[in-house]
Amino acid sequence: MLEVLELSKTYGHIAALRGVSLRVERGQLLGFLGPNGAGKTTTMRSVFGLVAPDSGQVRWGGNEITEEARLRFGYMPEERGLYPRMRNLDQVAYFGMLHGMSRHNAESEAARWLSEFGLADRAKDRLEELSHGNQQRLQLAAALVHSPDLLVLDEPFAGLDPLGVAAMGEILATQANAGTAVIFSSHQLDLVEDLCDDVVIINEGSVALAGAVRQLRAAAPHRHLQLEVRDAPTDWIDTLRGAAVIARDGDRVRLDVSEGVELSTLLEAAQEAGDVVEFSYEPPSLNEVFLAAVGQ
Ligand code: ATP
Repeated sequence: MLEVLELSKTYGHIAALRGVSLRVERGQLLGFLGPNGAGKTTTMRSVFGLVAPDSGQVRWGGNEITEEARLRFGYMPEERGLYPRMRNLDQVAYFGMLHGMSRHNAESEAARWLSEFGLADRAKDRLEELSHGNQQRLQLAAALVHSPDLLVLDEPFAGLDPLGVAAMGEILATQANAGTAVIFSSHQLDLVEDLCDDVVIINEGSVALAGAVRQLRAAAPHRHLQLEVRDAPTDWIDTLRGAAVIARDGDRVRLDVSEGVELSTLLEAAQEAGDVVEFSYEPPSLNEVFLAAVGQ
């Protein structure tokens, strides 16, 4: 298990981290969320010893992280760190050897991952000859080649096309199912909601919210009601108590409903106003939970 304990880091007058704590178990896929500048990259870099925190600790399996333990970690950094002129297969194999694999093993695993990503025929090309999305796939291959126990990915979905996003999501889920501890940052919250059971949301260097996505959504004090009422007077919604319009598109409205408001009352009012075509009640999305947590 990876444990980040009370990490703090200041750059000049900027407090990048103010006591960030989180944990990722083996087999868990954790979404690490936060607005730009919240401290996600700084936290991730701390796990690899690339940032020296002012205080706090990072532990793996209950112990301080040694160089040896770190060889069993895989990292896909935000500033993708591959060599533009190196040949693709050699590059991935090189990362394998950096993590202690024999040349033979590293080359055969590199070939396996290239083939997994549909890049087998690009093995002898150079990185700079690949498209952005394929460079991203190669960066992931470099992080995975040594079958790490912990996988840390900084915005792995950025810049991928929908097919690439789906493939990346599947790989991360497969890795977690196989027992790897996986943590990744992303701004694509609908994707995170589909992929992760658990999230940590940080804001201005502190954890704003953490837990199971389902519970965080269910615990939100407001519910959303999706309504479509045809042939209703335009102002009928304005007379409802305890419900505020979030979005409106013709006859369709999305309402924010306060706790304690009786749904039956809303349904009766809608039926009196017109022809009810849709009436669905749900907790807020992860996106809405996120916006509330970071104060927007
Ligand atoms: P993004 O979503 O934009 O990638 P982030 O959550 O990863 O953001 P960080 O990159 O961790 O955020 O940055 C946190 C804060 O620390 C920001 O205010 C950033 O400007 C600052 N910071 C990060 N690295 C440095 C550095 N090397 N020198 C000075 N300030 C830094």
